[in-house]
Amino acid sequence: MRLNLREVIENPGNSVDFSYQPDFSGLNFECVKSIEPSVSAKGRVYNSAGVMKLEGTLHVDMICICSRCLKEFTRSTDLPLNAILADEAIDEENPDIFLLDGDYIDLDEVVTTAFVLDVEQIYLCSEDCKGLCPKCGKNLNDGPCSCTADADPRLAVLGQLLENN
Ligand SMILES: [Zn+2]
Ligand SMILES: [Zn+2]
Repeated sequence: MRLNLREVIENPGNSVDFSYQPDFSGLNFECVKSIEPSVSAKGRVYNSAGVMKLEGTLHVDMICICSRCLKEFTRSTDLPLNAILADEAIDEENPDIFLLDGDYIDLDEVVTTAFVLDVEQIYLCSEDCKGLCPKCGKNLNDGPCSCTADADPRLAVLGQLLENN
């Protein structure tokens, strides 16, 4: 969505609110199975002594796939939106700076960037996910598999003793 900022750009102290539903249906990530259509972004753009700032929240509900155990899990998140809107690229290294298009800002660019950066950090169903057994593929979060018993060093020693006899 393009937001008209004419009233704000020309008047320090002014602000304009926004609230809309970004369309993320075209985004595809390996770790995201689906994004619920209930995505919503809201916030405001204000003129702080001549500097255009955007602040707000992006709400996303989605079904993710854990990159360690492949389990699907739902994630509901409220991401903070913080951006500086500038006429020109004053600092290309700063990811929080977005370019104005005349009197307009492309809100999709701001919210999509915030979302993509977040998705890159949510590959696991939980921080201590045990993952899958590399041998039998069992989800070790559900309990140990029989391969784990094989790998028990005491049993390995016993196995060797039996072999030697
Ligand atoms: Zn997992
Ligand atoms: Zn196993």
